[in-house]
Amino acid sequence: MPTTVFAASEIITLNTSLPRCTHVAVRDGRILGYGGPEIVAEFGATLDDRFATKVIIPGFVEGHGHAADGIVWRNPYVGFYPRIGPDGQKAGGFKSISEVVAHLKAAAENLPDPTTPLTAWGFDPIYFDGRRMTAADLDAISTTRLIVIGHASGHIMNVNTPVLAACGFSRDSNLDGLLRDTQGNLTGELLGPAVMGRAARASGGAALMREMDAAAYRTYGEMARRVGVTTSTDLANTGSPATVEALVAATAEPNFPLRIVPAMQQRAFSLPDGIARITELKRLNTDRLHFGIVKITADGSIQGFTGRLRWPGYHNGAPNGLWYVAPAELESIVAAYHEAGIQLHIHTNGDEASEVTTEMIGRALAKHPRQDHRHTLQHCQMADAATFRRMASFGMCVNLFANHIYYWGEQHRAITMGPTRALRLDACATALEAGVPLAIHSDTPVTPVDPLFTMWCAVNRLTPTGRVLGEGERISPAQALRAVTLGPAYTLKLDHLIGSIDVGKFADFAVLDSNPLAVAPEAIKDIGVHATVLGGRVF
Ligand SMILES: [Zn+2]
Repeated sequence: MPTTVFAASEIITLNTSLPRCTHVAVRDGRILGYGGPEIVAEFGATLDDRFATKVIIPGFVEGHGHAADGIVWRNPYVGFYPRIGPDGQKAGGFKSISEVVAHLKAAAENLPDPTTPLTAWGFDPIYFDGRRMTAADLDAISTTRLIVIGHASGHIMNVNTPVLAACGFSRDSNLDGLLRDTQGNLTGELLGPAVMGRAARASGGAALMREMDAAAYRTYGEMARRVGVTTSTDLANTGSPATVEALVAATAEPNFPLRIVPAMQQRAFSLPDGIARITELKRLNTDRLHFGIVKITADGSIQGFTGRLRWPGYHNGAPNGLWYVAPAELESIVAAYHEAGIQLHIHTNGDEASEVTTEMIGRALAKHPRQDHRHTLQHCQMADAATFRRMASFGMCVNLFANHIYYWGEQHRAITMGPTRALRLDACATALEAGVPLAIHSDTPVTPVDPLFTMWCAVNRLTPTGRVLGEGERISPAQALRAVTLGPAYTLKLDHLIGSIDVGKFADFAVLDSNPLAVAPEAIKDIGVHATVLGGRVF
């Protein structure tokens, strides 16, 4: 078997036996050894020195991403912050609702015919001084074409009057999640999956709610690879036959540059069907595809005022958010999957959702003790020290949404959480102090996948105004690096295969222009990703 040794100026292994070295040996797609130049001869290897001036680290693991990032870009992006699309071009950066509407008007003119629905994504009115988008804003684009605008969080949509009509939503509708003005009229803002799902179906799929195809997985693979990610979750996979077929086909292609860990979305299934389906999906697993975990969504988004909060609620007085699953039902879902031996990844945003869900896992464990379950709270953005200590006592993990500190930190401080509670937004230091295994994430496409940026957020906690939000919650670059490699690998129960440079693990590396543990902490986000290596193959 041919053996290759990659040389680098420095290799950070995240492996206590030898934390730093300069050479790593690869055979059969796995790591054979590591050390100094002597290992070339010791393993009878061929030296590959193309990275001799670079820094090799374990490939990044995106522990909460959505492969839908590979499909949303087929529709216009209407976000406040500009971002780079799969074509490498900058998009978005709209600073008012009228700028968004003008952009959509132009986009509508490019659609093939007047009946093609217009869908867009990445919108968030929280940046616009209290002004929300209404159906009238979108009716100004068209009163006949169906128009659906997904919010950045993925938890809210704005639609025009034709969509309200197509869904049968009216002033008299008796449904949760239909936002109303002071007169009780529908504003066209839809909150939560029940009403959003109807609008998505009426308009043939919108933004995050579209069915994936193989090309979308390929696009996502390429977007993740560019930023050094070698394993990514797809954290709300529908588990539908079409999606699964596309995923199996894409990940089987020799040039597919990414390992994918889909989390099957529980919502689509009854309890027995869901447990049967995830068991069946695991049989499809390969080196690049790892089914096994299940995703449950407990509440909504804080910046959309649909996250469930404890006292004193929303700083601006907005009513408490939405339980996506009523707590009694959530408890029976958690208990059933737990009893079946399945690992859960549960979205909780508000502190009430995190606390209540943690106690449910505690009760499930009391009934059915289970070692090493690693149930993980995803986002868990407002949990306090007491909740983290409970999580630690139950053996739970956390994946915090560090990118939020930059993208919404100022809004949480001024509008949703107020100046004090916002300090504990994505409290990485408190989680580590409590002993909860930690990962941090982008939730792409909610914010762009880029683990070096995510590290930068957790280390510096800077908002766009230059404010440090919660100085005490900053973590070290070494802790942050672990939280984008071995940390998420642990939450996925894949730490025996990925996340560090150790003998027998997959030879998955990110090749960087500089050492993220040596540069100034503010410069971590600017480090270039030179290449990735997946199973020993250079991409
Ligand atoms: Zn998500």
